[in-house]
Amino acid sequence: MKHRIFNASLILSAMLISFTSCSNKQSQTAKERDVFAMDTFMTMKAYGDSADIALEQAENRIHELENCLSVTNQESEIYKINSADGAEVPVSYDTALMVEAGVFYWQETKGALDISIYPVLSEWGFTTGDFHVPDTATISKLLEKVDGGSIEVNDFTVKIPSGSKIDLGAIAKGYTGDEIMEIFQNNGITSALISLGGNVQALGSKPDGSDWRVGIKDPFSPDTNMCVVSISDKAVVTSGNYERCFTGDDGKEYWHIIDPDDGFPADNGLVSVTVIGEKGLRCDALSTALFVAGTDEAQSYLRNYRDVDAVLVTDDGKILYTDGLSKCIEISSDMPSEVIPYD
Ligand code: ADP
Ligand code: MG
Repeated sequence: MKHRIFNASLILSAMLISFTSCSNKQSQTAKERDVFAMDTFMTMKAYGDSADIALEQAENRIHELENCLSVTNQESEIYKINSADGAEVPVSYDTALMVEAGVFYWQETKGALDISIYPVLSEWGFTTGDFHVPDTATISKLLEKVDGGSIEVNDFTVKIPSGSKIDLGAIAKGYTGDEIMEIFQNNGITSALISLGGNVQALGSKPDGSDWRVGIKDPFSPDTNMCVVSISDKAVVTSGNYERCFTGDDGKEYWHIIDPDDGFPADNGLVSVTVIGEKGLRCDALSTALFVAGTDEAQSYLRNYRDVDAVLVTDDGKILYTDGLSKCIEISSDMPSEVIPYD
């Protein structure tokens, strides 16, 4: 009798093992989806039986957010805020939260991130494709209206001064990444990786339990990676001077991250900033802000707030990274590298 029970439980456990390995096998096939939205290519891959439905929901969410945030679509909430001529505009939870985040990071980064920089960015042609170096008088005039502190968010309304304009390009993809992670989790997905035009974000680790390996581009040669970081459950967000740039008539390179201090492309010693942390929104805001802040201020920010890691590349070709990455970064570049001192 005892023998039979033993046998029965053996059969049961064999069934369980085969059932588990069968479902594992099923879930190890990645489902993938490519989307073009927010002016960039996005790729998503998720594992698990509900991956298809999760990816469908994620794609819908991307389009929903894009519709709120587009600066050019006359139906978008940002467009309505920008054309309200100083009046208060009712907005959705998403827009309120992102604008609030914009104000928060303006304060936290001492104005390096300023979502009201939009008119200056536009003048340079980054929004229209009509690239040119504006004259300094035009920039000075436009800068008068740039003030992250003048943006008011109250519950579900946003108000900006007449003549000001905002854009969430510096943080929208980060927020979108967090939203997609939540959709995946709600669908029971435990392993996924997305790339929203350079914003990489991972849910869990690879299905075999190993870390995701994320390459970070060499800003001096963007077709190659300068390093790889091994991560799980993290966002890896890069802002670099090699994306969206043009060569002016003077032969100089100009790029799309603007220093609100002078209205020129930020040129404070850094050519690339990658921020690695738990939340896409925070990493996105900080990658842009630390790029603007420059070599010294970026390092002191990282020393003060130790919740994120970062890889900085200086314009004289040095890689600086936080100690938290020491065990998970593999550098393949010839550039000299060093850990950012924390004392
Ligand atoms: P990417 O969009 O290439 O991922 P970023 O996250 O760094 O790069 O965002 C850059 C975008 O943010 C610009 O295209 C512009 O829309 C906006 N932007 C540029 N400079 C600033 C700034 N100082 N503060 C806030 N937003 C900015
Ligand atoms: Mg950013």
